[in-house]
Amino acid sequence: MSTHLTCGKLFDGLGETAADNQTIVIDDNRVSFVGPTADAPKPGGRDEIVDYSNDFVLPGLIDIHVHLSYGNAQANEDVDMYSPPEFRALRALAAAQKVLKSGYTSLADPASTNRVSTSVRDGINSGMFEGPRITSSGRQITSRQGLGDWYPSWIGVPESSVGVLVKSIDEAVEEIRLQVKDRVDFIKFTADGLNRNAKGELMACFNQQELTAMVEECHRLGVKCISHARGREAVLTSARAGVDILFHGFEMDQEGLDAVVESGATLSPALTFLVNTVEFTRQGDPCFKWRPNMNRNDVEIASEMLVEARKAGVPFMVGSDSGFAVTPYGEWHAKELEIMVKYLGFSPGQALKCTTSENSKLLREGNNVGRLADGVLADITVVKANPLDDITTLQDRDNLKDVWLGGKRVDLTPTEDFKPYNWEQSYRQWNDVYTRDRVAELAG
Ligand SMILES: [Zn+2]
Repeated sequence: MSTHLTCGKLFDGLGETAADNQTIVIDDNRVSFVGPTADAPKPGGRDEIVDYSNDFVLPGLIDIHVHLSYGNAQANEDVDMYSPPEFRALRALAAAQKVLKSGYTSLADPASTNRVSTSVRDGINSGMFEGPRITSSGRQITSRQGLGDWYPSWIGVPESSVGVLVKSIDEAVEEIRLQVKDRVDFIKFTADGLNRNAKGELMACFNQQELTAMVEECHRLGVKCISHARGREAVLTSARAGVDILFHGFEMDQEGLDAVVESGATLSPALTFLVNTVEFTRQGDPCFKWRPNMNRNDVEIASEMLVEARKAGVPFMVGSDSGFAVTPYGEWHAKELEIMVKYLGFSPGQALKCTTSENSKLLREGNNVGRLADGVLADITVVKANPLDDITTLQDRDNLKDVWLGGKRVDLTPTEDFKPYNWEQSYRQWNDVYTRDRVAELAG
């Protein structure tokens, strides 16, 4: 039995426009025909016909930046410490299912506690659970100067952290070998440090020699690598090292952009985290005093050079940095597309191409997803409104009509919001210090 989808408009993920009156035929879990309805094989008596003639049909959407193990964290301690890895794996599975129900049939997880992400991936792939296709990294590799080593040195990087500390090239190479042995799909490291120099520039946490050695080992073992590179130095050294994908790139300068162009690296800004922080952070949030202003400034700086990168033809992948309190699972994945259009000058069609066929280049399934063509896996997202006219409609839950994963229709009934377990979160209990003076002040 085949399934015939008659599509009013079809975006195949490879171009930047949609075609009218197309038909997709699904046999088992794959697409066996895509083309004009007039040329399509005629459905037989037992075939199912699904009418999307008033709808817009796209390849299943892909978010390459979902931190499944973070649990919508409100603090670094939530990410690294408070819940046991076993609980995080269960929570991550529920998170992945929320992502799927929002129209995203594939995701990549760049930085995960222990083996949480690979285990959820394998649980889904073995058929135990329904969930999106997952491409996983392990813990993100960092140095004593790096993101991920954010606790005092007398605490260090705990075993349960999303980061893993390496203290030499040998240790970095060893960690890469361990993660590949543990069947990660790609390696994530942070090139950014935590501190700025006298010029105000964010310093990188690895030097050129170290980064180059790490990238060489990843490529020798046949895995791609992603570098967290927001600062000028991190962008430049990551690109020169031959990193496949650079996350963020906010403080890239012209020299960095030239290096990115020359290396053929892909950029993936993940601006949703910043924009949501600016838009949502309220008085009473501990970061209210500093973070929204800083991130507003970041968005401005980032936009400038990322626009230049787009004009220079640098490939872009799309990710939302979901998993934090400002980017909860299943909520803001498509907002990154709106941001690409609004701040970086992409057309809606270009942004959609980035989040489908371009994003698929990182995935385990490669060009079997992220496009609608003969022979690919039948991962399909169907919406009512045309996102080429208004890209923000992809964020509207009522606009999502159907999701197909491997030729099967996904149940889109929303899962209930899970209430946080009391030991999932860090223990900050008061946002003020109640001295007698402060209490009198508050009393007015
Ligand atoms: Zn991230």
